[in-house]
Amino acid sequence: MASAPDYDVIIVGGGPVGLLLGNMLGRKGLRTLLIEKTATPPEESMAIGITPPSLEIFQTLGLDENFVKQGVRVELAKVHEGRKLAGELSFCSLDNPYPFILAIPQATTIEVLEDRLRQEDLVALCRETSLLKIEQTGQQVTVTVRRGDAAESEQVTASFLVGCDGHRSSVRELIGIELCEEKTYPAHFLMADFADDTDLGEEAHLFFSCHGSVESFPLPQGRRRWILQTDRLISPPDIDLLIKSLLRQTGYNLEGSIRYSESVFSVRRFVCQRYYRNRVVLCGDAAHVMSPIGGQGMNTGFADAEFLADALARHFSNGEDFQALLAEYDYFRRAAFDVAATRAERGMWLGTRRGWLASALRFLLFKSLLSAPCNKSLPAYFAMLTIPYRSLKAINSGQH
Ligand SMILES: Cc1cc2nc3c(=O)[nH]c(=O)nc-3n(C[C@H](O)[C@H](O)[C@H](O)COP(=O)(O)OP(=O)(O)OC[C@H]3O[C@@H](n4cnc5c(N)ncnc54)[C@H](O)[C@@H]3O)c2cc1C
Repeated sequence: MASAPDYDVIIVGGGPVGLLLGNMLGRKGLRTLLIEKTATPPEESMAIGITPPSLEIFQTLGLDENFVKQGVRVELAKVHEGRKLAGELSFCSLDNPYPFILAIPQATTIEVLEDRLRQEDLVALCRETSLLKIEQTGQQVTVTVRRGDAAESEQVTASFLVGCDGHRSSVRELIGIELCEEKTYPAHFLMADFADDTDLGEEAHLFFSCHGSVESFPLPQGRRRWILQTDRLISPPDIDLLIKSLLRQTGYNLEGSIRYSESVFSVRRFVCQRYYRNRVVLCGDAAHVMSPIGGQGMNTGFADAEFLADALARHFSNGEDFQALLAEYDYFRRAAFDVAATRAERGMWLGTRRGWLASALRFLLFKSLLSAPCNKSLPAYFAMLTIPYRSLKAINSGQH
C-alpha cells in the first residue's frame, strides 16, 4: 500500500495568488507546502489596483483592514480627453463595504500575505526552492524540487499540486496543458513610479488624446504611477521621452521629481485549454493572462484562489469527488476570466485609438457615458462588481 502523502496540497509559486491560496488552505485545515524559487519578494510594483471583491476575500482572513491601512483609497477617477475634462467616476456610492479601489503596490500585497502565511501552523513556505519534475501516480502527486544551490534534488508528495507560478508556468508546461485564445495586441506602454509633486491627490486620472493614452494613479508614501502608451516596446525605458510626453499630454512636468521605478510592457491575452489535469491544477496567471490596462489580472487570480481553496476543502472534509469539483472550478473561473479579459481588451482598444477623429468621438462618448444617469452603473462595472461568478459569496447568493 502506498504511504500517505507528505502534504494535502503543494503550491508552486509565492506570488500574490499562491500566497493567498496558501493562507486560505491553511485556514481550512489543509497541510500545505508552498515553494517559491526567489529568495526574497520582488521589489518592483506591478499590480496596484485591488477591487472590492478582493477586499471581501481578504476580510474572510481578517486582512482587509491591514490592506486598507497600507494603501490609498481611490474614490474618484477623472477622465480627460485632449486636456479637457470629459467626466468623472465616483466609487463612493458603491453598494459594498469597500466603496473604492485600493491602490497598493504588488510588493506590499505580497508582504502582507506572506506575513499572514507565516502565522499558519499547517503551511510551510520554502523560498529558494524550484520545481523540477511532476509525476502523478494513483492518489498522489510526486514533485521533485531543488532547494537553494543544493547539489541533490528531493522528492515531496501531496494529494494535489497547484501551479500559481505565473504566466510562464512550468507546472502548465510539465503537465502538457496548451494555451488557447492566445492574442498579442499592438499596444505598448512605458510605466514609472515618481514622488507625487502634483496636485492630483488621491484621485486617479485618465488622460486620453490624439497622441495616445496616459494613466495616472496615486500610491502610498506620496508616490504616483504614470503609464504612457508608446509606439513600440521601448526597452530600456526612455525616461526623457516619458517626461516630455507627460508634459505634452497632461500638462504635468515631472522633471526633477524623484523616480522610484520604471518598466515597459506589451500586452497579450491567453487562457489555458483546461484548468487542471487529474490532481494538478492551475490558478492565477498560470491559467490566464489579460491586458493589465483595467487592473483585473491579479484580482481574477484572487477569486480563482478563493474558489479552489473551497473546492479542495470540500473534497477533504466531505469526501466530495474532486474531479467534479475541479470541473466546476474550470467552468466558473473560466467564465469570470472571459468577461474580465474582454472588458480589459475593449477598454484598452477605446483608450489607445489615436488621431483627431478618434479623440473627438471618444470625447463625445465619455461625455455622454459619464453624465448622470448613465454613469450610475459604471462604478460597479470598473470595480469588478458586475463580473459573473466574481466570488463565492456572489455565487452562493445567486448575485450573478
Ligand atoms: C504593468 C502591470 C500592471 C498590472 N496591474 C494590475 C492591477 O492593477 N490589478 C490587477 O489585478 N492586476 C494587475 N496586473 C496583473 C498582475 O500583476 C498579475 O495578474 C499577477 O502578478 C498574477 O499573480 P500570480 O501570483 O498568479 O503570478 P506571479 O505574480 O507571476 O507570481 C508567480 C510566482 O511564481 C514563482 N515561480 C515561477 N516559477 C516557479 C518555479 N518553477 N518554482 C517555484 N516558484 C516559481 C515566481 O518567482 C513568482 O513569485 C498588472 C500586470 C502588469 C504587468
